[in-house]
Amino acid sequence: KAYFANEQRYSNMTYNRTGKSGVLLPALSLGLWHNFGFIDNIQNGREILRTAFDLGITHFDLANNYGPPYGSAEENFGTILKTDFKSYRDELFIATKAGYDMWPGPYGNLGSRKYLIASLDQSLKRMALDYVDIFYHHRPDPETPLEETMGALADIVRQGKALYVGISNYKPKETAEAAKILKNLNVPFILHQARYSMFDRWVEDGLLNTLNENGVGCIAFSPLAQGILTDKYIKGIPENSRASKSLTYLNTETVNENLNKIQALNALAESRGQKLSQMAIAWILRQPQVASVLIGASSANQLKENVKALDYLSFTNEELLQIENIIK
Ligand code: NDP
Repeated sequence: KAYFANEQRYSNMTYNRTGKSGVLLPALSLGLWHNFGFIDNIQNGREILRTAFDLGITHFDLANNYGPPYGSAEENFGTILKTDFKSYRDELFIATKAGYDMWPGPYGNLGSRKYLIASLDQSLKRMALDYVDIFYHHRPDPETPLEETMGALADIVRQGKALYVGISNYKPKETAEAAKILKNLNVPFILHQARYSMFDRWVEDGLLNTLNENGVGCIAFSPLAQGILTDKYIKGIPENSRASKSLTYLNTETVNENLNKIQALNALAESRGQKLSQMAIAWILRQPQVASVLIGASSANQLKENVKALDYLSFTNEELLQIENIIK
């Protein structure tokens, strides 16, 4: 069936400025790491993307190797863009990345100019796009000079293949160095993509301050700790959940280790009248440097539930203390 976007799509979403840039991002963005590969059901993927856009989610996050197999999330996304979102391209903010393993040999990984430029060309072909809105270096490469990696990002912008650039998983010191180089090159560096949830708070130890000093925004990935910070695992490991699958980075031990904390957090969320997933998202959005929370979803219903986090974002000091005590 043909898709016509919800006319009310901009009335309920909040849009936050990212760093000192002209870009506004939806408070929740959607990532295509899981659930969009050739191993997945593309009709479900299509429904998730339509639901997202109907809810005002304008930002979609990909990477060269999302799938499996590698590249297939971009290819499926390209197919759905063509069938459903063609007339909405300028309402979308599309991201891709390179930095992890992508193709065999010495040029398909890490941070060389050779890898980054070829990888983005491949990504654009798979998505059938002329340019992406933001291109990220996906992780720091300790062996390649930062000048080379940042120089490649700069040339990608000058070639018109990306409008903005970002980095991901860089520590505070590397981030400050990257910001300095990119500033000298006059390249719009607007986002740092970092793992951040109640179960992984490393960004609070310097990164958010560094970003603030450099006018760069943060987009927080795996805000639900891949699904642990929801009510789904409280009564065991459901079939088809990410923790139950073998090809994922979430295992049942991690779930079980955190069960007591999840139960306590779930009770607190209930006392606030919301779901644990919603409280976990609201808790991240309390940080002014975080422009967007980058969620994943295996169904349209999960997405709808998670967007309702925006209905109740505030915390009392006592609630914040209770959370500290549970997660410490
Ligand atoms: P989340 O922590 O949001 O986990 C999403 C998963 O949690 C879903 O796929 C689903 O898994 C489960 N879930 C979500 N909502 C609910 C709900 N309401 N109730 C029950 N279960 C729920 O984020 P991800 O780990 O998926 O990461 C999000 C995005 O961040 C990625 O798609 C990617 O774009 C980006 N990312 C970037 C990285 C980087 O290095 N830059 C690394 C990792 C991610 P289930 O299948 O169990 O239903």
